[in-house]
Amino acid sequence: MRTYVSYKWIDDPIEGLRAPWRKNYYFNVNLSADALIDHASRRWNYGALNDNFVPGDVEIINRNQPVVSREDFFVWKYNKSGLISVKSAYWLASSLKTSNRLRDVICLPSINPIKEKVWALHTSPKLKVFLWKMLSEALPVAELIKARGLKVDDLCQICGFVEESINHLMFDCTYARQIWALSGIPNPENGFHQSSIYVNFNYLLELKKLRWGFTDLRSLWPWIMWTIWKTRNALLFEGTRFSPLEVFNKAKQDEEEWSLAQVVDKDFQQAGIEIRVKNKKKWVSPPGEWLMCNFAFDWCKVRSLMGAAWVLRNGRGVVVCHGRRAFSAITSKDQAKLQVVLWTVESMRSMRFDKVVFAGEMEDLFGAVNRPQAWPSFLFQVGEIESEARGIEDVRWQVITKDQNGGATFIAQSVTNQNRMQSYVARSHPIWLSGFFASERCGL
Ligand SMILES: [Zn+2]
Repeated sequence: MRTYVSYKWIDDPIEGLRAPWRKNYYFNVNLSADALIDHASRRWNYGALNDNFVPGDVEIINRNQPVVSREDFFVWKYNKSGLISVKSAYWLASSLKTSNRLRDVICLPSINPIKEKVWALHTSPKLKVFLWKMLSEALPVAELIKARGLKVDDLCQICGFVEESINHLMFDCTYARQIWALSGIPNPENGFHQSSIYVNFNYLLELKKLRWGFTDLRSLWPWIMWTIWKTRNALLFEGTRFSPLEVFNKAKQDEEEWSLAQVVDKDFQQAGIEIRVKNKKKWVSPPGEWLMCNFAFDWCKVRSLMGAAWVLRNGRGVVVCHGRRAFSAITSKDQAKLQVVLWTVESMRSMRFDKVVFAGEMEDLFGAVNRPQAWPSFLFQVGEIESEARGIEDVRWQVITKDQNGGATFIAQSVTNQNRMQSYVARSHPIWLSGFFASERCGL
């Protein structure tokens, strides 16, 4: 056996076996320890050692003179004789185990602070209980059922390869990994930990300290875990399968609905108080067979971003459908106003609705459309709006106040306040505004 100097062949009292530290940046990688021996004196060649290594290492090397009478060989360093013995091997094994355990205890985040952080999360109470159960090993996964002495098929029901533990199901299963990848939540540098759920929880809980553009990602992860759990149960008990993308979309939708509902609840309570104080105007339904399309925008000057929304209701106040869109590069309020009117009218025309009352906080623009002579400086805008409305059989333009435009305003604000950039059109009202629209309907 030939010992090259790049091998771990010197015994550092602190670090253990390692390669000696070389003095020079450039060195001969094929240099063998043999070349550093003065064969005449059967000692290390002191000059050669000093040329190659740092002084401290020269000293360590010099402690053991080379054996030149035979080939290089291994020495058991844990007892004096250099020959392996059961006793010394046992000592080594148990001391390594203890030091590993000590390292785990020191490095692993402790469970109680993690549980406390889970309770402090801004998320749905049912999710907090769920996360707490996970940390307390109180979810009925195969590994834990088996540990309680019941006979079960212990393989992960999704991938079928590994024993089903909570950590495997949530982080390590290929299925879970695909969902995390879709989520846009950055993975830990070396991926999620393969066995420690505490390390993984700790990572997710620390995410709030990271600075990324999209705040909603930070509150998404409990919903992802929750949806993975629901999906696993659906597969296990009903045999229903969902793709990773479906799982991710469901988690995102649930998170969005929950967090928007929190905002609305707050605004709604406040609005309720103000209504009692000022006796504000209420939403008024359109006449007869007409539909009313309320629309609103929320413009963020700093980001040149506009959230826009419309809500279409019939004479009984029932929401037929609604739409939301994010517009970028909107540099002035006037531009925002015109843009939201044109987009709303275009939406109604393309869906072939007739007899539509467009209701917006648009005193100037609608004033100009209704009486162009009185608003000569708005003739350009009037022309744009009228040409967009061509094709809708009957239209009316109604100026309303802020109090009469709550629903559309909430939806528009969800773009700017919560970075909901996805544009869409959907039937009925958003679920998170059920309460709001129901109360407006009751007020008719
Ligand atoms: Zn699996």
